[in-house]
Amino acid sequence: MINAYAAQSANAALTKYQFDPGELKPKEVEIEVMYCGICHSDLSMIDNEWGQSKYPLVPGHEVVGKVSQIGSQVKHLKNGQHVGLGWHSSYCNQCSYCDEGDHNLCSKAKGTIIRHHGGFADKVRADANSVIAIPDGIDLEKAGPLFCGGITVFTPLVEYNIKPTDKVAVIGIGGLGHMAVKFLNAWGCQVTAFTSSEAKKIEPQTETFPFEQINDAIDHLRNGRAKYRVVLKR
Ligand SMILES: [Zn+2]
Ligand SMILES: [Zn+2]
Repeated sequence: MINAYAAQSANAALTKYQFDPGELKPKEVEIEVMYCGICHSDLSMIDNEWGQSKYPLVPGHEVVGKVSQIGSQVKHLKNGQHVGLGWHSSYCNQCSYCDEGDHNLCSKAKGTIIRHHGGFADKVRADANSVIAIPDGIDLEKAGPLFCGGITVFTPLVEYNIKPTDKVAVIGIGGLGHMAVKFLNAWGCQVTAFTSSEAKKIEPQTETFPFEQINDAIDHLRNGRAKYRVVLKR
């Protein structure tokens, strides 16, 4: 049995909920949950803001834990290994998007908290192809958000081939933006962040500007006088 916290209806508080996940499928792994972040999408699903929630709904898609059971066809993960699980809990692995590494665009991808029980539980299951191995040395307590907001802002760094010599602006230092600022600083970029609050200046070397100056920055881009090579905006 899996012990979880679930919303029984839209806008409801989470209460204890136990369910039998059945037999582990050949391509699945079971993860013993150590930590799980909370993301605004968890709240949107609990409150059925997108009209696709099914109840009982177990939220949690920023999962960090250890592999505790492995399906018979899974070869690349082992018991006890630290892993993460994000928004998706399986991919078809056969479409052109999956073939090109753009699994997030797979039309058959299944959500971790959409018709599937998520990580606010002692255990969570997922297809092994959506489970990410966590290298040694990562602070597991803080790793959860990397699997949702983290990959969301990391992707453009790769897609736009951002170099350490680039100047990059980040609009908004929120859940996603603060991770973008950290990644970009670690990569060596010159980072400018636009924020509604100077209190959110999280990296001393990051230049911050109030939101009111965003239009000036966008005008610079439009007029071809770009100060920034890339602007990350949610
Ligand atoms: Zn999320
Ligand atoms: Zn696919």
